[in-house]
Amino acid sequence: MVVIMNSGATKENILQVQRWLEEMGFGIHCSQGVERTIIGAIGGDKSKVDIEQLLSLPGVERVVHVVEPYKLVSRSFHPETSVVKVGGVPIGRNNVVIAAGPCAIEDYQTLVQIAQAVKAAGAHILRGGSYKPRTSPYSFQGHGAEGLQMLHAAGQAVGLPVVTEVMDPRDVELVAEYADMLQIGARNAQNYSLLKEVGQTDRPILLKRGMHCTIEDWLLAAEYIAVQGNTQIVLVERGIRSFETYTRNTLDLSAVPVVHKLSHLPVGIDPSHATGMSELVPTMAKAGVAAGADFLMIEVHHDPPKAWCDGRQSLNCDQFAQLMTELAQVATAVGRSLEVVEDEDHNPL
Ligand code: PEP
Ligand code: MN
Repeated sequence: MVVIMNSGATKENILQVQRWLEEMGFGIHCSQGVERTIIGAIGGDKSKVDIEQLLSLPGVERVVHVVEPYKLVSRSFHPETSVVKVGGVPIGRNNVVIAAGPCAIEDYQTLVQIAQAVKAAGAHILRGGSYKPRTSPYSFQGHGAEGLQMLHAAGQAVGLPVVTEVMDPRDVELVAEYADMLQIGARNAQNYSLLKEVGQTDRPILLKRGMHCTIEDWLLAAEYIAVQGNTQIVLVERGIRSFETYTRNTLDLSAVPVVHKLSHLPVGIDPSHATGMSELVPTMAKAGVAAGADFLMIEVHHDPPKAWCDGRQSLNCDQFAQLMTELAQVATAVGRSLEVVEDEDHNPL
């Protein structure tokens, strides 16, 4: 249940409603919007609530029942699209934000080389994996803590915020020290201990869709993070498993408008992992922007055939620059832009 306060509601009015709900056995989640305050009442027994009495409390405008199983991330809870800030880069406004970089961090020199190239092409966030969820235990597992330092330094060197995957709840604190955004990968999309742990950080979260997750499973995974107090979440569709084997996964492009309808969280597309084939990445990236994606994550490597991980799906630096030009045109055609105006109030690491 969600209580929407009117724009003139005072602090005292808000507190009174919160106390009333707490006495009824609800947990409270308060969201202070620009216009109004929204109070989420979680748990409790709705059948015992006297709605007329609740509506009569000063400052209460409306009471909405959130029928979806996910509450805090649902659009009925928060009708405006949320803006998630990574460094100073806002995701969820009219601009489309692009994160690009190598699948795995290999060495500092090549990482900076790629970072410079993606920055010059107009990318807003640098990505790079340091803890790699490889299908085979014999494949390169990532440089771990050392890679985090390289990523942080490369981001600083070129002036881009950085995103990287965290796989283990025990590493969350360390990764949060070095990264502006924490990524939960597809394989860990339903690792509830990990979701709870990242929910306790103040870092924005990039939550990939699990390859076997329905949209509802995915939104409930986001709810696990939100309920811990961290609602800075970007949902990223990266392809799901289907009977089709031609592409690495099957990009569920309709997830973009569907999730926009169901949730206030920004939605992104990862065409690299979705297709597994670099020649398909530009087309699906553009389709993602046309479908309304707020964010794209694209794997870029200076020499894809030699990449230690996911070279087959990585664009080289020139291909990425070319794609950025085309994406700008698609963005304009759908009334959006790749130009990001950084917020001044950001808290860099
Ligand atoms: C990645 O982004 O490097 C990655 C492993 O992605 P996913 O979890 O979507 O497979
Ligand atoms: Mn990868």
